[in-house]
Amino acid sequence: MVNDSNLQHIPWLSGKRPYQFFGPCSAESLDQLRTTAAGISEHFTDVIFRAGIWKPRTRPNTFEGVGEEGLKWLIDIKEEFGFKVTTEVASPAHVEACLKAGIDVLWIGARTTVNPFSVQAIADALEGADVPVFVKNPLNPDVSLWSGAVERIGKAGITKLGAIHRGFHLADNKPYRNAPAWDLAVQFKTDHPEIPLICDVSHITGNPELIPHVAQRALDLDMDGLMVETHCNPKKALSDAKQQITPAHLQGLWNSLIFKSAESKNIEFQNQLDLLRSKIDRIDDSIVELLSQRMNISEEIGVYKKENQVTILQLQRWQEILERTIKSGKTLNMSEKFISNLYHSIHEESIDKQTNS
Ligand code: PEP
Ligand code: MN
Repeated sequence: MVNDSNLQHIPWLSGKRPYQFFGPCSAESLDQLRTTAAGISEHFTDVIFRAGIWKPRTRPNTFEGVGEEGLKWLIDIKEEFGFKVTTEVASPAHVEACLKAGIDVLWIGARTTVNPFSVQAIADALEGADVPVFVKNPLNPDVSLWSGAVERIGKAGITKLGAIHRGFHLADNKPYRNAPAWDLAVQFKTDHPEIPLICDVSHITGNPELIPHVAQRALDLDMDGLMVETHCNPKKALSDAKQQITPAHLQGLWNSLIFKSAESKNIEFQNQLDLLRSKIDRIDDSIVELLSQRMNISEEIGVYKKENQVTILQLQRWQEILERTIKSGKTLNMSEKFISNLYHSIHEESIDKQTNS
C-alpha cells in the first residue's frame, strides 16, 4: 500500500486543473510534432505534451515508433513551446533513455501494467530518480493489479505518482474501444485519494464522436485531468488514426465541457446538501439494520434446514425471490440490473450465514 500522505502534490501539476495531456499517439517526425504543438499552443497553456516513442502494437510490421531519436524531438517541443513533455516507458532501457534526455513525465502503458515483472524492472530502473510517473490501468478489469503497479513504483522512491484511466477489455466493450467501467476508476480513486487520476478519453472511446460524453463524465467524477490524443492530421496518423482529433477540434471539445468543482462556497447549497446527506445517512443506517435482521432470519432458517437435512440452496425459492424483488423494484423505478446485483450479493451472504450456522 502506498502511503498517500507521503505523496507530494506534483509541483508542476499544481495550479491549473484539469490537467491537459494533449499530443499525438506517436511521434512520427519533428515536423508533425511541431505542427501539432503549434496548433495546441494557439488555444492552450500548461500542456503536458504526450507522444509515444516506442509503441506497443498488437501485430508486428505495423509502425512501432521512431525510437530514441524521438526523445530529442520532444525536448525540442519542450523548449520551443514551453510545454512539459511525456512519453510511455515499457522497459528499463526506455527509462534510462528518458531520464538522460530530460523527459519531464513518464507513463506506463496498459500492456505493461498487467505484468508485475515488467513493472518491477521499470521500478528498479527508476530507483533514485525524481521524475513523475503516471500508471495506466491494466487491460483487464483488475484494480489491485493497477494499485500494485503504482505501489511498486512508489516503493522505488517515486513520490510524484499519477494514474491514468484508459478503459478495460471486457467481454463487451461496445460502443467503446475499451469499456470505461467507471466503477473501477472510482474504486481506484477511493483507494488512492491523493494520487491524481486522469482520464484517457481517446483510448476509451476509440472514436472522436464519443469523446465529449466520456470527457464530461470523467470531469463529473472529479477526475484530475484528461488525456486527449491530438494530431495535426489525424487521417494520416501512423497509429490510432481513427481516434485522434485536430487541435481545433480539441479547442471545440474544451469549450463544450462543463468544468465543475467538487466543493461549492454557496452556503445555501451547502446547507441543502448537508440536509439531504443526513437523510441518506439515516436511510443507510436503516438499510444496514434491516439487512442484519434479514441475515439473522437466514441463520435461523439455516439451523432448521440442518436439523431436517435439507440443502441450503433451494433454487426455486431463490428464483422466486429474485423475480419478486425485480418486479417490485421496477414499479419503484429501479433497474433490473441494480436489483439483481443487489440480491445476488444479499443471497451470497445469506448462503454463507446458513453454511456457518
Ligand atoms: C497510448 O497512450 O498511446 C497507448 C499505447 O495507450 P495504452 O497503453 O492505454 O493502450
Ligand atoms: Mn494511441
